[in-house]
Amino acid sequence: MPFVFDFDHTHRKPPMEMKDLLGGKGANLAEMTSVLELPVPPGFTIGTTACRSYMEQGWPDGLTAEVAKARLRLEKKMGKRIGDPSDPLLVSVRSGAKFSMPGMMDTVLNLGLNDHSVEGLAKQTDDERFAFDSYRRFIAMYGRIVLDIPGDEFDALLDAAKELAGTTSDAGVPVELLRYLVDAYQQIVERHTGKPFPQDPDQQLRGAIEAVFASWDGPRAVAYRVRERIPHDLGTAVNVQAMVFGNRDDTSGTGVGFTRDPATGATGEYGDFLVNAQGEDVVAGIRNTEPLAALKDQFPTIHAELLAIFARLEGHYRDMCDTEFTIEQGKLWMLQTRVGKRTGRAALKMAVDMVGEKAIKLSKEEALDRITGEHLEQVLHPQFSGSGATVLARGLGASPGAAVGRVYLTADDAQAAAERGEKVVLVRSETSPEDVHGMLAAEGILTARGGLVSHAAVVARGWGKPAVVGAEALRISGSSFTVDGTVVKEGDWISVDGTHGTVMLGQVPVTAGETPPEFETILGWADQVRAGHLGVRANADTGPDAANARRHGAEGIGLCRTEHMFLAEDRLPVVRRMILASTPEEEEQALEALRVAQRADFVDILEAMDGLPVTIRLLDPPLHEFLPDTQELAIKEATSGLTEEESRLYEAAKTWHEFNPMLGTRGVRLGVIKPGLYAMQVRALMEAALDRVAAGGHPIVEIMIPLTVSREELALARSWVEGAITEALAATGATGAEEGKMEVLIGTMIETPRAALRAGEIAEEADFFSFGTNDLTQMTFGFSRDDVEGRMMSAYLEQGLLKRNPFEVVDPDGVGELVRLGVERGRATRPTLKIGVCGEHGGDPESIATFAAAGLDYVSCSPFRVPIARLAAAQAVLAGLTTAKGPKAKSAGKATAKAKSKTKR
Ligand code: PEP
Ligand code: MG
Repeated sequence: MPFVFDFDHTHRKPPMEMKDLLGGKGANLAEMTSVLELPVPPGFTIGTTACRSYMEQGWPDGLTAEVAKARLRLEKKMGKRIGDPSDPLLVSVRSGAKFSMPGMMDTVLNLGLNDHSVEGLAKQTDDERFAFDSYRRFIAMYGRIVLDIPGDEFDALLDAAKELAGTTSDAGVPVELLRYLVDAYQQIVERHTGKPFPQDPDQQLRGAIEAVFASWDGPRAVAYRVRERIPHDLGTAVNVQAMVFGNRDDTSGTGVGFTRDPATGATGEYGDFLVNAQGEDVVAGIRNTEPLAALKDQFPTIHAELLAIFARLEGHYRDMCDTEFTIEQGKLWMLQTRVGKRTGRAALKMAVDMVGEKAIKLSKEEALDRITGEHLEQVLHPQFSGSGATVLARGLGASPGAAVGRVYLTADDAQAAAERGEKVVLVRSETSPEDVHGMLAAEGILTARGGLVSHAAVVARGWGKPAVVGAEALRISGSSFTVDGTVVKEGDWISVDGTHGTVMLGQVPVTAGETPPEFETILGWADQVRAGHLGVRANADTGPDAANARRHGAEGIGLCRTEHMFLAEDRLPVVRRMILASTPEEEEQALEALRVAQRADFVDILEAMDGLPVTIRLLDPPLHEFLPDTQELAIKEATSGLTEEESRLYEAAKTWHEFNPMLGTRGVRLGVIKPGLYAMQVRALMEAALDRVAAGGHPIVEIMIPLTVSREELALARSWVEGAITEALAATGATGAEEGKMEVLIGTMIETPRAALRAGEIAEEADFFSFGTNDLTQMTFGFSRDDVEGRMMSAYLEQGLLKRNPFEVVDPDGVGELVRLGVERGRATRPTLKIGVCGEHGGDPESIATFAAAGLDYVSCSPFRVPIARLAAAQAVLAGLTTAKGPKAKSAGKATAKAKSKTKR
């Protein structure tokens, strides 16, 4: 297969479906050229296969010849030759990966200029100034990107030239100074490389293509891919395209246009443009832009032409598109289009609107597929409460949400402060890809320059980070900035409202995010799609959490970690009394006090989730977590001495100390050595359930044993639970009628590889399974869940040793295989076995797809992720990953407290 394809090449499929090979930009350029027949400057795409081959073994055989042929074809189409001293063709060389990585890789413009062709360009265009301005830009760009020369050196000379000319704009630098700059830039190149600036266009082209290939593995691109979960092995395509010039004169310009507002989703065109400028000026945010609507006044015909193109693009792609365009001496050229990035709010609005629009006719299923978990997260973001705060500065609200943090003025300082645990707002004149690490670390971003499609705006919007850009009143200098005489120093608090484009001094109070009306519409559609396939529950430990989860659409609780109830300030001394008890009476008294407290908690939770299943997990963590830190006590003992109580606690803490508590006296093992504890919890729970029945409620209780590894272990635990249920019912004098009004199941977590492998026998004793994928991941990889991510995860991700952090996205191959095995073996024993997952992965969309495919009945996640899980579950159904379960889950849920009489089934 060839490496190189012209934009008008006849492919076997629509080019827009060939992003793997052509990259996103190349695929869309080919689509616009060959299918839509839009005015696109001709060019060719070097496919991603060439980049992959370059990464493996250097410059691919045959590529030079293919590029040379493509260059000839391009020159023929344009009627001009690259490097021609009398009338040169100039080209751009741009990266373009399958997934958009804005500003993360390299671009070289004006390629083909040299000491001779620049004179030809000057003559042909009758514009010496334009020719030399293009040449000095090319040398600087090529120097920085291909030859690795620090850009500052070129910038400093340009600034000096501007000062000399008494101007602040690039356009004000006269031609004599531009000629001087061209010379001076070439000297910089020679000083750094020991060789003159390359004059041969073939050499220039090869250098630029190689630089684009290499930029795929540059640190910025790698960091971006880790953040965006883009695989490292895709490689980038390279697009070589005839240049058109927006910086010819005042009948020229360049801009970025969206077919709808990417921040709000409102219909109608949206974007920015600049007269007499090159594309990079808009994207880099170096000059403040004008809104697209102003194009109508200055270039009415072009404006109309552009709107007609926008309508065609929307009809063709059936989605909002973003475009880059250039006007060269009154002629419109389309340089790029793609389905545009958008905020969560805009994504929801556009998806719902497009279902009702004749030109697009999106189906509800397609609409669901257009929304991501990140979109939902963005609308769930916090906002500022009240409107009383005094506004310090105004700019453009580029990415919605509220951010409060301390001011830092460089990306490095912002990152360092965030690592110290500070909340940070990154304040920059404008941002560039070099600032990405600081932006990542920041709560919010504020820039003095730039428009709504500048780097800061696009990146922040993509990440859902609140950002205000183009706050022109800001004067940044060193480690502070001023606005109309008010000085804000590094470390001062500010509040940034990315929705309204305002900046306030100090810490403005924040309230939880507000969801637009389309949020409920989309989730309603999602619920219809996933009904009978995959349920969504929440992990919640308190009544208020449970109520919140229900508000977010949770269909029950999949995990109530009862140990969280023991850590409350008033419970800790009682738990300690139980641990320190030296007689059975003392232990019983402490357990009794805990029972009373837990019963009240359980009532709250069962009430909040009335009529829905509530999985209560019996105590899991090691007991020493309830005891004071041994190191602290040792120091105190050696210095001021310990009280009698502290001495006893110290002894107990030493006794219970474990070298690896994650593998220690946890879960059911704890029950084995302190059986009174589980009995107490079950009694409290049954009393709470009976309280709820008495109050007219319908409690559905699932008692879950943690960390079981064998049938025998579960059978033993089950016998305690059943014994405690019998006792509790007898003690409260419950009648058969009351028992009949509640449902109780007894099941286990599957959290170890052994449990997954022996799921067949474990299912003999279990009414349900819930996969604890946090521990299952820890134990499958042998990765300590408390330590490994901080120490080595980034190295593993950057080097591609892991595709994903397995604590974030469940490992589909290893851990996923254990889940699939566990389901298969468990259901072979008990076909009606209800199975869920309650590890953190239960709220992660990719993991949800893995669980759906494994045949799980439900996923359970934190309350704020419930909407995301509802959407992801629907998407998994639409992707055909599930089979309808219908009434199965229901029949499993019908087992009642009477199950206690049928331990062996
Ligand atoms: C798990 O291990 O996945 C789990 C849900 O339990 P915990 O996180 O409490 O160990
Ligand atoms: Mg666990």
